[in-house]
Amino acid sequence: MLEQSKFVNPTADRGLAFGSERQRIADTRKDWHFKLAHHLCDQAGMVFVEDLDFRIMAKGMLGKHTLDAGLGQFTNQILPWVCFKRDVYYGKVDVHGTSQECPDCGAEVKKDLSVRVHHCPECGSTKPRDTAAAQVICTRG
Ligand SMILES: [Zn+2]
Repeated sequence: MLEQSKFVNPTADRGLAFGSERQRIADTRKDWHFKLAHHLCDQAGMVFVEDLDFRIMAKGMLGKHTLDAGLGQFTNQILPWVCFKRDVYYGKVDVHGTSQECPDCGAEVKKDLSVRVHHCPECGSTKPRDTAAAQVICTRG
């Protein structure tokens, strides 16, 4: 009888533990996403997101971090759903060139990802790159 009690399949047990751990992480992240979505709806009557293809982004320089963060699920499923429930306008805008455009005068300002500050040679507007891009998204929405 002792011989038999040793005969436990260790891989089956480990597989189960691994699966539930992944599920727990996914649930925690989802919960946080819902909180974030509600937080955004608290602050704004309208929400605009860039219409990105996260599957392509995941292949690019941002790599797996983008997928790990569940950004696609957040912007494409959770955020629009919460906006709908909260009666907040949800819109997607054209992604092209949001970070290459001056939010103040509309001039095209080329910069690659290493350039973190937007500085417009046309109107002299200077602000952090992400702030500038966010303002462009807002204007397009
Ligand atoms: Zn400008």
